[in-house]
Amino acid sequence: MNDWILLPLILIAIAAGWYLGRRERKSSRYYELGLRHLLNDEPDQAVATLVTELNVDNDNIDTHLALGGLLRRRGELEKAVFVHENILQWARLDQATRHNVQMELAKDYLQAGLLDRAESMSMTLAAENPQYRSESLKIALQVYEQERDWHRAIEIAKQVTGGADEAQIERAISHYLCELAELSLTRKDPEAAKGFLVDAVGHFAQNPRVSLLQGRIALEAGDPEAAVRFLERIIEQEPVYVAESMALLETAHQEMGSEVAYRSYLEHCLTHFPSISVVLALGRVIRDQEGTDALARFIANQMAQNPTLRGFIELIDVNLGQAEGAMRQNLNLLKNFAEAMIADKPNYRCGDCGFEGKRMRWHCPSCRSWASIRPIFGLEGE
Ligand SMILES: [Zn+2]
Repeated sequence: MNDWILLPLILIAIAAGWYLGRRERKSSRYYELGLRHLLNDEPDQAVATLVTELNVDNDNIDTHLALGGLLRRRGELEKAVFVHENILQWARLDQATRHNVQMELAKDYLQAGLLDRAESMSMTLAAENPQYRSESLKIALQVYEQERDWHRAIEIAKQVTGGADEAQIERAISHYLCELAELSLTRKDPEAAKGFLVDAVGHFAQNPRVSLLQGRIALEAGDPEAAVRFLERIIEQEPVYVAESMALLETAHQEMGSEVAYRSYLEHCLTHFPSISVVLALGRVIRDQEGTDALARFIANQMAQNPTLRGFIELIDVNLGQAEGAMRQNLNLLKNFAEAMIADKPNYRCGDCGFEGKRMRWHCPSCRSWASIRPIFGLEGE
């Protein structure tokens, strides 16, 4: 067992013993048994003894609370719930301590995935004690996020604004509205989606996800000019997400026949925030306007400045068209090798927790942050 968990357990056992030393011989015996398990490096037996045999009383409530909190941090959620529920059952609990224990229990329930219980406990506590209102509403908020109940999440989030994390909450509300917009789009209701997106801008004006969705809706509605206007905002909002807009933007400009304006925008992106998605998109425009040789020169030049495997594959592809015999065979080998190198690599990473994945997500499934997942840059990425 790790020292970091053993030491607090020993301290809890000693604290329990200090109280119990003054009390009944029976409890004292259980304390001694718990401590002996710890000293014999038998933490599970020690926890079992401390949890099940020590009765709650005024003198040792803090010890029980410390043990419950420790068990939750250790991921032993069933035991943490047992300890905290055990304290609540003690008849002589004063209201302040009861609320404190309920707060701990709501956290246990949330972490254990007992969402109904976490919601019910935190909403009751928020109504009963203003001191815990904000903290317990944030637990309820996490429940509604996990249940994807975005209307309820918006309602609760609006009640917890005004604190130090106001900007973070406002961004979250903007993303809840984007989730509702996406649901409307799957139900073929773009007008409802547009309404949600207008609200989303009101909570976070620079949200690139809103621009992406507005661009998509405009394009699907047959208005490529509006789509371009929305999508080209992203370079000013968060240039790291420009790559996400490339496919829509290319289609919109093709529909408008505005290759010159498209090329000019791509060159602007390449100067301010280079990425391989922009290089490849600009390469396609150069090929259409100036031919394959110009494309080969452009890609080679870009790879000399910002080498990436995707660019390398494009460079091989351009040269494959003109190669024959052994040279063609060798280039194919190189291409297969480069493709294999990126096949299993993640394209996106969460800046908060390090979660990695192949597809873009706006809500990290690991740490549950919003817009913390971004495209990976470097040799194997953008
Ligand atoms: Zn994360």
